[in-house]
Amino acid sequence: DHALDDAVKLKHLNAFIRISPENSLHQGKESEHRYENKNQLSVLDGVPIAIKDNFCTKNLTTTCASGMLSNFVPPYNATVCERLAASGTVLVGKTNMDQFAMGSGTVDSIFGPTKNIWSNDLSDNKWHIAGGSSGGSATAVAAGICYAAIGSDTGGSTRNPASYCGVVGLKPTYGLVSRHGLIPLVNSMDVPGVFTRNVSDCVDILNAIAGPDAKDSTTIRRPFKKIDIPFFEDFDLRNVRVGIPKEYHCEGLTKEVLETWMKVADLLEDNGAHVEQVSLPNTAASIFVYSILNQCEVASNMARYDGIEYGHRAGNESSTEELYANTRAEGFNTVVKTRILTGNYFLLRKNYQKYFEKALRVRRLIADDFKRVFETPKNNEKIVDVLLTPTTLSDAPLYSDFISQSNRDQCAVQDFCTQPANMAGIPAISIPIRLSKRGLPIGLQLMSRSLNEEMLLRVAGWIE
Ligand code: GLN
Repeated sequence: DHALDDAVKLKHLNAFIRISPENSLHQGKESEHRYENKNQLSVLDGVPIAIKDNFCTKNLTTTCASGMLSNFVPPYNATVCERLAASGTVLVGKTNMDQFAMGSGTVDSIFGPTKNIWSNDLSDNKWHIAGGSSGGSATAVAAGICYAAIGSDTGGSTRNPASYCGVVGLKPTYGLVSRHGLIPLVNSMDVPGVFTRNVSDCVDILNAIAGPDAKDSTTIRRPFKKIDIPFFEDFDLRNVRVGIPKEYHCEGLTKEVLETWMKVADLLEDNGAHVEQVSLPNTAASIFVYSILNQCEVASNMARYDGIEYGHRAGNESSTEELYANTRAEGFNTVVKTRILTGNYFLLRKNYQKYFEKALRVRRLIADDFKRVFETPKNNEKIVDVLLTPTTLSDAPLYSDFISQSNRDQCAVQDFCTQPANMAGIPAISIPIRLSKRGLPIGLQLMSRSLNEEMLLRVAGWIE
């Protein structure tokens, strides 16, 4: 009840696309029954959560914040939603996002932008963005409406808003959490992400959702061993090697973020961790490669929206082609249309090798950079357990400043530190560290090798 009241009270933040009282009251009652009947309760029983509106929820609209799906009611639940419901969580509602998760601000939604709860002034254009594309989920947690929320992360969409909103945001290893029912953006990079207020809650949610799923052939087959982390303070840092990748000290990084980064590195070192500088030479190429691969996969993924089977359908067509064209012209925003067109250009026979294939090769180099520092060192380098970097280059920008640049230009800046992890499929987490002079949160990112979530979360919990 409280969560629903808060969601209504904080409506002006625009975190939710849809609040689902019928659903949540029913789920809440089930938990109460289990409690009264002294059935064994899970740690998540009765816990209010929110889910980004690109995860299918049975009998509840799932819009991707797009006109194309504004009337779409899925007949099934995403695996993540099923598993969370089975753990006893209560779904408060579906959260706001950039259309089809294309963006980094939650400003491109047919339901309007989400406002950052840390803004000093929420009046006309004086407020700060929540980050994106999962800005609604980050806000639902930052505002205290929900204990946890699910987002998605293709190039940083969980970690970026987590950093701007001062909450924990985890992008698990690719394939550790099922994508079944997550409406695809870039199939080879998409992962469900977790937002919580602290690392220990994040562990509980990950434990509930991770593990193989017969409905997603890209999930890792090996059964997931639940993570058990009782006391982060007791964690001995003396055996931990932390890498500081020098390429993340990049153009546009603010002094405050740099200072925060260096302070935390010193703190880890003072407490026994071995901290050293490492190099990931292909980092700067990552943003170009991401943009090509993203648009190519978008071009093929968006072809399913033709107005025939589900979603928006334009009227008055005189041919099937015209039906497709009108449906897409009406249903998609400019960002989606531009990515489809650019992606198809890259995929043309004459361009395929020059762009798509080359991008795949450089993607491999980027992944190899991580392999070298985490698994197989060269030239006397030692492997590291985690990498410490900024999540975003600054604190949350003002909405008015943010929208003065195009979605594409914004992504190039916003995703600089986050998208390499998606290229390599490795786990990464953003944790809140401090407030900037403007009173806005600053987060830092930790990355680790594939399936090393336990180490990642332990170090994150210690820092927190
Ligand atoms: N900003 C990136 C994009 O628009 C990342 C999005 C995401 O992670 N979903 O592609």
